Amino acid sequence: MRKAGAILGQILAELERRVRPGITTLELDKLAEQMMHDNGVKPAFKGYKGFPASLCTCLNDQVVHAIPDDTILQEGDLLTIDSGVILDGFYSDSAITVPVGRIKPRAQKMIDTATKALNEAISVARPGIRTNVLSRTIEEIVRAEGFGIVLELSGHGIGKSLHEDPYILNYEEEHPGPTLQPGMTLAIEPIITLGSPKIKTLRDGWTIVTKDGSLAVQVEHTIAITEKGAEILTKRPK
Ligand code: MG
Ligand code: MG
Repeated sequence: MRKAGAILGQILAELERRVRPGITTLELDKLAEQMMHDNGVKPAFKGYKGFPASLCTCLNDQVVHAIPDDTILQEGDLLTIDSGVILDGFYSDSAITVPVGRIKPRAQKMIDTATKALNEAISVARPGIRTNVLSRTIEEIVRAEGFGIVLELSGHGIGKSLHEDPYILNYEEEHPGPTLQPGMTLAIEPIITLGSPKIKTLRDGWTIVTKDGSLAVQVEHTIAITEKGAEILTKRPK
């Protein structure tokens, strides 16, 4: 999983460099697939419950699971790229939200807030704490900035499959959740909105958008719980 994560981090870093006005999300998907092939990993999303691509490419009000197509990126767009790879049967899952050219300050604030929530949750993760501590950490940071939290979508365990127990919610629940232990591997993914966090699925059966059309941001890392804390497996090279 460490190797799978490092490769995925490299791929996302390269995609981030390629994002600019004029490129299509399908071109980014083709590029990702080529890089996966070159690195000896398989796409985790392609074929997953019938999903047709190696990336989820969500623009602006698209929250998750948008399918790459011939949409041309425009100056001011907000693009979330979510991807996963499989190496020797082990999965990795990570997402970034990238500004296309210049974006509005409030949109940048969303990226910064989701990233801060993700990093803080990772920094508090260690053996002996309950998963709800991660959830509370994310919720407090996002709420403090006034953004919405999509309740229906959450982080998850990951390993020999893409989605495993436990859920890592982005808001605090009454139930404290299971206790973290060394060797557990988790995908943590704050998913936040500028307006209402209510969502709906489009007719393609995949794309989830905000009901009010407001912007959405998702950032995600796969991490491993170690004896001392947590290690980010999907770190991107600078
Ligand atoms: Mg993901
Ligand atoms: Mg995930």
